[in-house]
Amino acid sequence: MTARVGIPRGLLYYYYGPLWTKFFKCLDAEVIISAPTNKKIVEMGVKNTVDEACLPVKVYHGHVMDLVDRKVDYIFLPRLMSVYRNEYICPKFCGLPEMVNHSIKKLPIMIQPTIDFRKSKKDLSKIVWEVGSYFTKDIRKIEGAFQEALKNYYRYKEALGKGWLPIDMLKGDRDQSMHQNICHRDKVALLGHPYNLYDAYISMNIIEKLRSHQLDVLTPECMDKIVINQKAATMDKKMFWSFGRKIIGTALHVMEQEEVRGIIYLSSFGCGLDSVIADIVERRIRRHSNKPFALLTLDEHTGEAGMDTRIEAFVDMIKWRRNHENYFSTHGQYIHTH
Ligand code: SF4
Repeated sequence: MTARVGIPRGLLYYYYGPLWTKFFKCLDAEVIISAPTNKKIVEMGVKNTVDEACLPVKVYHGHVMDLVDRKVDYIFLPRLMSVYRNEYICPKFCGLPEMVNHSIKKLPIMIQPTIDFRKSKKDLSKIVWEVGSYFTKDIRKIEGAFQEALKNYYRYKEALGKGWLPIDMLKGDRDQSMHQNICHRDKVALLGHPYNLYDAYISMNIIEKLRSHQLDVLTPECMDKIVINQKAATMDKKMFWSFGRKIIGTALHVMEQEEVRGIIYLSSFGCGLDSVIADIVERRIRRHSNKPFALLTLDEHTGEAGMDTRIEAFVDMIKWRRNHENYFSTHGQYIHTH
């Protein structure tokens, strides 16, 4: 009988989903991705997570429960400590397997390898073998599956580098994003963690809402990695959180780009990292650029109407600036011309 492996559609699924999915498929497993986030998933997650957890971690618990309801044989939930040399992932990721194991009942077999590439990637083959051996003892098959998975992952990253967003790639809707690149419309940079930006329910569909106002959306995932790293390296202190480096590098880059008309930071309530990064980003933007900036904070109680009002006000500001920017005096005051 074909083994059914569940992958929660949360947290780093938006980075590594294509890698993990292809790997398990090449090992002849049936891959079940939890449903797109919905009200029930959020409610289940909130109910089964400690109050102190941030929104994405709560939602992740809801995704695990969705997979438990679907009666999968396994759930893949890696313990992510570090994915880049000398950098860390948020500590919540390190303790995630324990949180889930203790909070959720009737779990199937949990596949929970530890991924810690802070010093080197020398343990990668061991991890691949550890995960693959749940499905076969044929080492060549496991290696072959991983090579195929890597190819899929590189294709995904390459597409992101060309301006496609994970939200389009993961639902297979590339045309819209292609259209976005061709149109040369005004651009808005949307900053934040991938699991906030690309989860349409959590983000209240902010990407599509901005696109509906004829704006292209740029995110850290579609930026040039080298540029991001160079910009982040100009900070006085090295940013040792991988997410923080990406977000700050992107912010410093887009604030110098003329075609980027405004910058939005989408943050989660309860995120310690965002409280630091968003503050740094906001100060830099306000000090060194005159682009409109909005900080939108999400939690499980955030109402969509309030969010829509803020997005519309932000879009109005961008349009107003575009129509009037030639009339700013050198003192920054708007001068009426008749
Ligand atoms: S970085 Fe923030 S939002 Fe992400 S898991 Fe950590 S605390 Fe939660």
